[in-house]
Amino acid sequence: MTSLLEPTTLKADTTPATAATALKCKECGERYPITPAHVCENCFGPLEVEYDFSHLTTSGLKSEIEQGPRNLWRYAALLPARPFARSLEGVGFTPLQRAYNLGERLGLRELYVKNDAVNPSHSFKDRVVAIAVAKAVEFGFDTIACASTGNLAGAVAAAGARAGLKTYVFVPANIEPGKILAASVYGAQIVPIDGTYDEVNRLASQVADEYGWAFTNINLRPFYSEGSKTLAYETAEQLGWRLPDHVVIPIASGSLYTKITKGFEELIRLKLVADETLPAISGAQPEGCGPVAAAFAGGYTEIKPVKQPNTIAHSLAIGSPADGYYSLKVAQRTGGTIEQVNDQEIVDAIRLLASTEGIFTEPAGGVTLATLQKLTRQGKIGRDEVTVLYVTGNGLKTQNVLDGVIPVPPAITPKLGAFDKFLESL
Ligand SMILES: *Cc1c(COP(=O)(O)O)cnc(C)c1O
Ligand SMILES: [Zn+2]
Repeated sequence: MTSLLEPTTLKADTTPATAATALKCKECGERYPITPAHVCENCFGPLEVEYDFSHLTTSGLKSEIEQGPRNLWRYAALLPARPFARSLEGVGFTPLQRAYNLGERLGLRELYVKNDAVNPSHSFKDRVVAIAVAKAVEFGFDTIACASTGNLAGAVAAAGARAGLKTYVFVPANIEPGKILAASVYGAQIVPIDGTYDEVNRLASQVADEYGWAFTNINLRPFYSEGSKTLAYETAEQLGWRLPDHVVIPIASGSLYTKITKGFEELIRLKLVADETLPAISGAQPEGCGPVAAAFAGGYTEIKPVKQPNTIAHSLAIGSPADGYYSLKVAQRTGGTIEQVNDQEIVDAIRLLASTEGIFTEPAGGVTLATLQKLTRQGKIGRDEVTVLYVTGNGLKTQNVLDGVIPVPPAITPKLGAFDKFLESL
């Protein structure tokens, strides 16, 4: 007999079907039914979710969104999965903080920080995982998994715990210990691998085929990646249904970067914003693993893989970015730039964001801010442009990068005289 408290079969809510109609090859345009597939059988191109939004009216959609929950499911009408009752609470609808102090430093009158470091597992990956896990359950999988540069491991582990699924996370063994811990605590099985992320990813693809597990960022990638569109929707909604002029986004595989773009495009198409053109969409990569930035600078269309990434920004260390080529195209057609910054600039930017805006980011956020600084210095972002900086991960998981950087003064005796001397010595 099955107990009501122990659901043995998980089912997504039986709310209406989604607007997703097919998976479409980004290269040859071939269409496939909605299944756990991610590559085209004709040409090996990547598959992307296609929708039929023709039943939506602008005003109806807007009020549905505005009356929706204060999390990413408020945009369910534009997503490929139905709201999942056992998804983690509190994913998305993160603050868009007006950055007065940082803006003044950089000479930008209207700068905002989209602070995705405050999601439940402390990175934007909770968004993509929310969609992937909802879809995995719809498809009937009992095991979820991922190949991760760190944050995805935590997000999948947390969501897996909440949904009651078996969970395996594959990570390069050299990522930050804080990120391994932040995945292990949820009870997921960690699979550390002596190799680069690209090698981890290759193994994970074989495991996906062999064991039939739902890998959020491999066989469920078309659904997973749609979760990033919600960062575009929220930005526009929080700005009062308008698009910014310039945005700066970190690039690892390029999924976040290209899907925020897709989100902005949908808002224009659905007339949820009055704007008719995309913002300039700029990308940020670390030196030591900046294959897309290098191709952009060199004017190439091919991305030359980085064999051995070497950067403190482990979450961005993907040498062979799956969406690198499409990212290049986005930068080119929106008038954006893709830059790379070094480890010292990353650490300085982490401290600058914390000391001006009270937001403690991990190196990925440092990469993004340091890139914004570069763009303002180069005059590529004007003083009056409404600019949004995407901060995608939390610094508490990567405190190791600040070891020895900010000295703590020696302890003093609990005497007023000692404190007087202490103040004088500063
Ligand atoms: C995964 C990740 C990104 C970007 O990843 P994409 O593969 O480009 O989507 C950015 N920032 C952080 C903190 C991440 O964990
Ligand atoms: Zn194809």
